[in-house]
Amino acid sequence: MDTIIDITMPLHSDMLLYPGSPPFSVEQYRSISSGDTSNNSRFSMGTHVGTHVDAPGHYVDGGPGIDMVDPAILIGPCRVFDLAGKQISAAVLRGLDMAGVTRALFRTPSSDDLADPEFNPDFAHVTGDGAEYLAEMGVKLVGVDYLSLDRYKAPGHPAHHTLLGAGVAVIEGVVLSGVEPGDYELICCPLKIAGAEAAPARVFLRR
Ligand SMILES: [Zn+2]
Repeated sequence: MDTIIDITMPLHSDMLLYPGSPPFSVEQYRSISSGDTSNNSRFSMGTHVGTHVDAPGHYVDGGPGIDMVDPAILIGPCRVFDLAGKQISAAVLRGLDMAGVTRALFRTPSSDDLADPEFNPDFAHVTGDGAEYLAEMGVKLVGVDYLSLDRYKAPGHPAHHTLLGAGVAVIEGVVLSGVEPGDYELICCPLKIAGAEAAPARVFLRR
């Protein structure tokens, strides 16, 4: 039997946010308890809140939006790597078996911090040379287990520029605590917000 693992952060008003992100909020505007025929809600959030996909347009002005990211990249075979440290550099990546890997998710100690509403600036990130290595290896999708691909306040955001510039899809905020390293099928479905530079996504792994 298939085992499906949900690696999506739950969206709620007290969740962890990247500094400056518009928070998630949801409110009912119709409710059965107040005499309406149904319950209906509206929500508001930044496009980079919780588990989400960055499109090239996030760092490449005028670049493709999230609605243009090829679904063939977002769904398919994927490998989860387990890293003891939080730095995803070329030196670390060279020590991994990446042969034939087109979708790579990196589980680090940061996964355990995603459920903590307090932002931890010391989070797992891809270095500039790590991003170049991934692009050269032909990786088409990269997932990290905290809220940004680049180190906090990294000058020039080299990992975003390199990967998004190379057309690599980037998922930020995948919850990999307790997920065994190894091969899975990835199912990543960002909302199709026309022209947006990113969108929240529901993401699953299937063994
Ligand atoms: Zn983002």
